[in-house]
Amino acid sequence: MYYKLPRIEYYRPKTLEEAVRLLEEVEGSKVIAGGTDLLVDMKTSRAKARALVDVNSIAELRGVEDLGEVVRIGAATKLQELLESPIISENLPLLRAAVESMASWQIRNMATIGGNLCNASPAADTAPPLLAYEAELVIAGRGGLRTVPITKFFTGYRRTALSPTEVLKDIIVRKSEWTGWGYIKLGRRGGFTLSVVAVAALARVRDGVIEDVRIALNSVAPTPVRAYRTEEALRGREVSRDLLEKVARTVVDEISPIDDVRSTAWYRREMSYRLALDALTEALGVK
Ligand SMILES: Cc1cc2nc3c(=O)[nH]c(=O)nc-3n(C[C@H](O)[C@H](O)[C@H](O)COP(=O)(O)OP(=O)(O)OC[C@H]3O[C@@H](n4cnc5c(N)ncnc54)[C@H](O)[C@@H]3O)c2cc1C
Repeated sequence: MYYKLPRIEYYRPKTLEEAVRLLEEVEGSKVIAGGTDLLVDMKTSRAKARALVDVNSIAELRGVEDLGEVVRIGAATKLQELLESPIISENLPLLRAAVESMASWQIRNMATIGGNLCNASPAADTAPPLLAYEAELVIAGRGGLRTVPITKFFTGYRRTALSPTEVLKDIIVRKSEWTGWGYIKLGRRGGFTLSVVAVAALARVRDGVIEDVRIALNSVAPTPVRAYRTEEALRGREVSRDLLEKVARTVVDEISPIDDVRSTAWYRREMSYRLALDALTEALGVK
């Protein structure tokens, strides 16, 4: 089948203010970053836009910075840049593992982290690690900047807290002393694929006791989700395989998977348990 893009106007602003102004003034305009989701959606009429506002030339939207207590990631930073960043490898290994599982080198050179979040696919791979790290999202609009916790960003199936005239500027992650992490993605083949289910886990263990733990999943609900009840059942407990095997089942009660082209709801529930068990085993260092 042959798909064609409709005729569109194209703008490439150099500043964030100009981008916001264009989104407000040009009717039917939309942000484009890498275009690896948006152009596919436009060609298949899933997304409509009369004009595109390309954010790739806005310098303040690019790059990774170590700001001491936090890491700042510009929303238009390419996924491949994240993989090659020593700041990400050192401070956010869980995010790095998720990005490494994504697409191909060519797509990662085009696609941005902001696009992955703003597209708000339930299968977005950068969402579970950023939900686990409790990232904050800095959003630019006519009134200036506002900050939204990522736990409140995904508001429904492919919907976010962004208004159509706002631009995601930064992803901010506070540094913390996690002792372990695990990202496990199951796809329909070994690589270059969207997830059937993926689980991200972060843990802090002291003297054999779970001080803190965070678990997030994708592809098992209308949005990427945190498994708060499973986390609660683990916090303050002594690490053991028995505990994990009992508690990891709780994730199944926290998800609402559906049947779709990649899997069935039943298989997703089974795999959520298995993957949560494996990701927690890695994160908690269970032998
Ligand atoms: C072959 C292929 C393989 C893929 N594999 C994976 C995979 O393994 N895992 C995965 O999660 N995804 C995958 N994807 C999907 C896609 O590549 C990612 O979601 C990517 O990160 C999207 O980023 P982008 O910059 O291309 O977004 P775009 O397509 O430019 O934009 C996506 C959406 O976000 C909005 N947007 C973008 N940036 C901003 C911003 N700064 N502020 C406000 N709104 C914004 C756009 O308006 C649009 O609605 C794949 C895609 C392809 C084509």
